[in-house]
Amino acid sequence: MRRRGCGSKIGIRLPTAAIGPCLGGGALLRRSDSGNGDANPSSDYRRRPGRAASVAYAPSQRIDSIVLERQNRAHVLQRIRAGVLEAGTVDLLRVVGLGERMDREGHPHNGSAIAWEGRPRFFIDTKKFTGKSMMAYGQTAITEDLYAARDAAGGEIIDEARNVALHDLTSTRPYVTYEKKGQTHCVDCDYVAGCDGFHGVSRQSIPASVLRTYEKGYPFGWLGIMSETPPFPDLCYCYHSRGFALASMRSPMLSRYYIQCDLDTRLEDWPDERFWQEFKARCPKDMADKVVTGPSIEKSIAPLRSFVAEPMRYGRLLLAGDAAHIVPPTGAKGLNLAVSDVFYLSRALDETYKTGKTHYLDCYSDMALRRVWGAARMSWWLTMLLHRFPDETPFDQRARENQFDYLHASEHAQASLAEQYVGVPFEA
Ligand SMILES: Cc1cc2nc3c(=O)[nH]c(=O)nc-3n(C[C@H](O)[C@H](O)[C@H](O)COP(=O)(O)OP(=O)(O)OC[C@H]3O[C@@H](n4cnc5c(N)ncnc54)[C@H](O)[C@@H]3O)c2cc1C
Repeated sequence: MRRRGCGSKIGIRLPTAAIGPCLGGGALLRRSDSGNGDANPSSDYRRRPGRAASVAYAPSQRIDSIVLERQNRAHVLQRIRAGVLEAGTVDLLRVVGLGERMDREGHPHNGSAIAWEGRPRFFIDTKKFTGKSMMAYGQTAITEDLYAARDAAGGEIIDEARNVALHDLTSTRPYVTYEKKGQTHCVDCDYVAGCDGFHGVSRQSIPASVLRTYEKGYPFGWLGIMSETPPFPDLCYCYHSRGFALASMRSPMLSRYYIQCDLDTRLEDWPDERFWQEFKARCPKDMADKVVTGPSIEKSIAPLRSFVAEPMRYGRLLLAGDAAHIVPPTGAKGLNLAVSDVFYLSRALDETYKTGKTHYLDCYSDMALRRVWGAARMSWWLTMLLHRFPDETPFDQRARENQFDYLHASEHAQASLAEQYVGVPFEA
């Protein structure tokens, strides 16, 4: 396979949760009209045997990109995951022109209730404390919207791209190879954004001598179901001696429920009937009486983990999303962190190709990590508060109860939690 001398190019992999400016993939960055230096005609990409490239779109200039996705579209779209969007994510979706369906089908979300066994339930009014609204709108719908925007922009998505590999990341001409239908392809790039999730190839392309990882495992998972039933009007976290439970939503007719479960739980041991019974046993009776049950359309077990990889940049590789960090879903942060990474990355690439300056590229990792660690700490704190741990002591339990009582009694404590839950503003 030959590498081609080429003009400025950028390789980005599609982050299924990334928004707008960087839809992903190994990409070619065509010098824009406002590009600096030699607008080299050869940078106009011509697909040649053994290579694939396409275009994605950045807000202020056309950034050509290719999407290399290991799965096919149907597989990506059948995954059911996140659903609570921070205020910053909601605003960003609107800014990049992906807000119309969200505003039509989404469910504004202005706070969450905490029901603590034996104590009064209370509602943390995030709108009152922050003046901002969140939104319940499923990640699957966002991914559908992203695909539609990509298709409308004439962007190319290479599905079932196998054996994606990143090369020469510390050079000025990195490239990405992949296999498709028995042929090996190459994409010459300037930058590669690794948005291929926790199990992807990108983070693993950073030498162990460079990469620092921080990890905390939790001794339980979440057994979650989705049902086409009307959800509660607001999220409700339930703390109970039988274990944690969460009533969430994805849309006005799509409910998402979770219960804490042991790590060795098997889905086949949890028919719907048993799930509903256990969920109701973990919430207050008045709430249990209002649960609208129905057949599950999806059922899964998610282990809980906190994980952060540093730095989020290695040469011309920039990590974004789960490739760099994983947080327990307790704080509804995973998807929102992927969005903020992609926002920072998009702004950095914009600046570099528009002005030749690399300020935002140079500070990308540190800036993204400040937000990542804020969300990782908040998710860890909420997980520690709302779950019982198998090996905990009576002191742990009493301290946890006091933490809850303080949160219940203090508007300052609630305001602080609300500010973190809604999402702190992106850094300028
Ligand atoms: C069960 C579950 C529930 C969740 N609930 C919430 C929630 O309520 N709120 C929240 O904010 N977050 C939640 N999350 C987390 C959220 O879904 C993730 O943070 C988000 O999907 C991260 O997006 P990403 O694009 O970085 O990674 P991913 O969504 O993992 O996407 C990575 C993509 O890369 C592709 N890929 C992987 N390896 C390769 C390769 N070698 N070559 C090419 N392509 C590759 C994958 O096929 C995938 O399409 C949940 C996650 C799970 C699993």
